[in-house]
Order: sequence, then C-alpha cells, then structure tokens
Amino acid sequence: MVGTCTAWHLRQRGHEVVLIDRGPPGQETSFGNAGLIQREAAEPYPFPRELAKIWQVATGQGFDIAWRASALPHVLPRVLAYAWHSQPERHARLARHYGALIAACITEHDTLVRSAGAQDLIDTRGYRKIFRTEAAFERAARDAERLAHTWSIDNRVESSDELARREPALKQTLAGAIHHASTWAVRDPGALVQAYAADFVAHGGQLMRAEVQALEPQAQGWRLRTSQGEVATQEVVVAQGPWSQDLLGGLGYRFPMFVKRGYHQHYDGAHGLQGPVFDAQKGYLLLPMRAGLRLTTGAELALRDAAPQPTQLAPAEACARTLVELGRPSPLAPWMGSRPCMPDMLPVMGPAPRHQGLWLNFGHGHQGFTLGPVAGRLLAEMISDQPCFLDPAPYAATRLTP
Ligand SMILES: Cc1cc2nc3c(=O)[nH]c(=O)nc-3n(C[C@H](O)[C@H](O)[C@H](O)COP(=O)(O)OP(=O)(O)OC[C@H]3O[C@@H](n4cnc5c(N)ncnc54)[C@H](O)[C@@H]3O)c2cc1C
Repeated sequence: MVGTCTAWHLRQRGHEVVLIDRGPPGQETSFGNAGLIQREAAEPYPFPRELAKIWQVATGQGFDIAWRASALPHVLPRVLAYAWHSQPERHARLARHYGALIAACITEHDTLVRSAGAQDLIDTRGYRKIFRTEAAFERAARDAERLAHTWSIDNRVESSDELARREPALKQTLAGAIHHASTWAVRDPGALVQAYAADFVAHGGQLMRAEVQALEPQAQGWRLRTSQGEVATQEVVVAQGPWSQDLLGGLGYRFPMFVKRGYHQHYDGAHGLQGPVFDAQKGYLLLPMRAGLRLTTGAELALRDAAPQPTQLAPAEACARTLVELGRPSPLAPWMGSRPCMPDMLPVMGPAPRHQGLWLNFGHGHQGFTLGPVAGRLLAEMISDQPCFLDPAPYAATRLTP
C-alpha cells in the first residue's frame, strides 16, 4: 500500500516512476490485514500500562498479545523503548503527530479510490467495537468521546439495546458498542492496492516484477541490483514494509524496527453481520469480506521470518462462535503478516540521513493500510520539492539514526 501510493503520487507530479515489487502489488502485509481505513485511530496503540494487563501478557494468559521466547533478544530492547515512548506525556506528544496523519486518511484514500474507480470495494458505514462488561464499556465510551472531541471523529456510543438493533445477528446480549462511523471498511484489501497500482499504470507508471537485491550509490544517482538485472535511477524510495531494513543495512542504517505479526482465517458461515466488529476485550476482529468472514488476530511478538505459530486463532475462533454463526474455516492455511513497527510508534518518512536521492517510507505499524495515500502524498511532495500538506519533521529518519 505505501509503496504503491508513493509511486502513484510521484507519477501524478510528472516523475518517471518504476514501481518494483517481487510480487504483484498488494500481496503481502497489505493483502491480509483487517482492511479498515481507520479514521478513528488518531492515537497510536501504546504499550499496556496496567500491571494486570502486563502480567496477563507476560504469563501467556489471554490471546490478544502473544510473544515468542526465541524473539526476545531482538524484540525486548525495542519493546522496552516502545514502553518508554508510551508514557502518558510522551505518548500525548507523539499522538499529536500521529493524529495529524490519520486525520487526512479518508480524504486521501478518497482521491485514489475515485481515480481508480474502486468504490465497489469500500463500505463507508463504519465499524463497531463491542464490549462485554459495563466497566470496560464505560471506560471506552469516555475515551471515544474525548477522541471525538479532540480529533473531530464521528464516534457514536451505542447502548446494549441499540447494538442489538444495529447488529441483530449477534447471539449474545453485550454491554454496548462504540460505532466509529467515519471509518471505512475495504471488502478486499489486496484488490484495493491492485486497483491503485492499475491506476498508476494507466497514468503512465511502470511496474517491474523483480526482487531488489542491493542499492548502490553512484557518483550520479543510484544503481539497483535486482533479480531482473540492473536499474539506474536518480532517486530511489524504500517502501518495503517489514522488509525495509533489509536493503538499508547494506548502506549502514540500523533502524530499530520490530514486527507485530498477525493472522487471518476466513469462514463461510451465514454470519449476518452488518459491518466489521472488534471484540475489544478479547482482541480479535470479524470482517465481512468478499472471500467470506475474515477473523484477524491481535499481535504476536516474534521474529519476522520465524515459522508461523497461529496459536491465537483457536481461542479467538471459539470466542467468535459465541457471537455469530461462523461456519467452517477456509481449507487454506491461516494467512500471516507482519506489522512494521517503530518503537516511537511514528513511521519513517523523508530523506535518508546520509545519502542524497534516497528516500524512506516505512514503519506505519498498525495503520499502514490506512496511511498509504497520506504517506505517499507527503513523500512525493518532499521529493518534488513542493510545499508539504503536513509538516514532515516529526517523521524524519534522523530521530532514530544520527
Ligand atoms: C492482522 C493484521 C491486521 C491489520 N489491520 C490493519 C487495518 O485494518 N488497517 C490498517 O491501516 N492497517 C492494518 N494492518 C497493518 C497494515 O497491514 C500494514 O501497516 C501495511 O500493510 C504495511 O504496508 P506496506 O506497504 O508498508 O508493506 P507491505 O504491504 O508488506 O508491502 C511491502 C512490499 O514490498 C515488497 N518487497 C519487500 N522486499 C522486497 C524486495 N527486496 N524486492 C522487491 N519487493 C520487495 C513486498 O513484496 C511487498 O509488496 C494490519 C496488519 C496485520 C498483520
């Protein structure tokens, strides 16, 4: 999503652009996610601060967050930095920069959706966070009202009765819901990226299917070594999602990226849901999609390339069955993807600190699908030396690597 939108915006500004991907665009992390364009996610998700929650995660109870011991040497320093950045005052400062990006997400997607003629993939009726206990519901309602006020988000608090009227297929009486009415749901996230990529090509952009193996600075510009031969260019953008550090390592950059992996599984039941539902106290989502009802899991702190361990799926599925007619799981193996996360919860967008003509656009964490068009526009404006529609300073790479 991020690379495709960057290419699209550069092409709109008259650049000759080649979008290089080892597969078709939109087939990795941006394929299997929950497909929400999250206007409501104005503040990045902080590291949990309640001792009971930390204890629950540390001892492996619950299934919204899982961690793998083999990943600890890599992940722990980054997660500790994430916890440090999650302190209330610091988080509030970072949230201002995050919220500024999120606030533009619907308008910016809308531009691309219209240009690509992809309206049939979008459901603009919002999504619901549902709550099982009164105490959690009341806390969430207070927070939703605060966020609605601060960030002009259309959050609607729905009582137990109202929720039952809006989502009559739910099999349980619940405490209530927050309806995030300004969020969009995408019925096939990979297809949306493909539509954006097709629109980029229709406007004269070029797609190249190749694995980029190395980035080599030249006296003038760059040489890319790829599985399909060499590519010479004046400027290069690295937007490889969770793989972004791989090529940058060869140029001496060490970004403290870590991944929060997640899984999905589709089900064929006559679930009857009107729209996406987040079972907030359990930590999984149910999303009506073209391919069936998609269940996505929370976060797994693991090494990106370690073998899949979809242990969060079974308990999430058991919970979901108490809420809706889930039906049979798809015979396909569960999909796995890696959210590319930075310890300070902000993406890296802007010039590389030590190389002329090298640009970075990665680390959009939990909301990379939401932020693709915003990130693409911001970077294209920087590269084109145009006034930026948002101040890019908070996202500069220099904050992480001197
Ligand atoms: C379970 C789950 C649910 C999520 N739900 C949401 C959601 O509802 N809303 C939201 O906003 N975000 C969500 N996210 C996060 C979101 O999916 C990611 O932040 C986003 O997809 C990252 O996009 P990207 O373009 O940076 O990376 P990717 O989509 O992974 O794209 C990177 C591209 O780089 C290519 N590539 C990598 N290395 C090379 C190479 N060497 N040569 C050539 N090509 C290369 C890959 O083939 C790939 O196409 C979710 C994530 C998960 C795991």
